Amino acid sequence: MVAAARLREELERYGIGADIHEGDGVALVSVWVDLVVWTDGAYSYLWWTGEKLPRSSLRKYTYSPVDDPVSAARRVAVRYAELRHGHPRSLEVSETLSAVAEGFAIPCTARRGCWYCERPSGADTASEEYRSRVVTEPLCAWCRILSDLRRQLVRLEPLLPEVAEEHPDLVVEAWELLAPVVPPSGVVLHRAFQVPAPA
Ligand SMILES: [Zn+2]
Repeated sequence: MVAAARLREELERYGIGADIHEGDGVALVSVWVDLVVWTDGAYSYLWWTGEKLPRSSLRKYTYSPVDDPVSAARRVAVRYAELRHGHPRSLEVSETLSAVAEGFAIPCTARRGCWYCERPSGADTASEEYRSRVVTEPLCAWCRILSDLRRQLVRLEPLLPEVAEEHPDLVVEAWELLAPVVPPSGVVLHRAFQVPAPA
């Protein structure tokens, strides 16, 4: 779901990794212990504030409009920071997260084939084996280039343009795949992602 993916990309700017789980008309962006963002993709992002409603056991949720993932990410990042400093399992999760950050900092060594493009369908994404790939493996060059192209389509800077510089042939392929959307969008791409017009 686009809304979930955009939130995850914005969270990456804060160094916060998240997993997306898609269901029927709803996607969950799992950020941290007790911090899962729900989105219907059409109207809002929704997450628990950590508080309960007065005189009840119901959780108090907060909303952010779906057409502004930048603001949603900023607010989610604030909640994340609160949890990191206070949650009893924070240390455990932060150790996992630092492994993730290191994993993503590794230059993409694989041209193709990573946890993302080989992701299993449905319930298998909850398996331990898949989770461990997500936290230990960087995206392959192909997925990184596609992800950075999609970021630019929504006016975000590419995260790792050097990968595109290293693999101009993959950029050409990605262009072919995204041909129906990239040129009509009128977005001026980072130079590493530009493909010369055929002669
Ligand atoms: Zn991949």
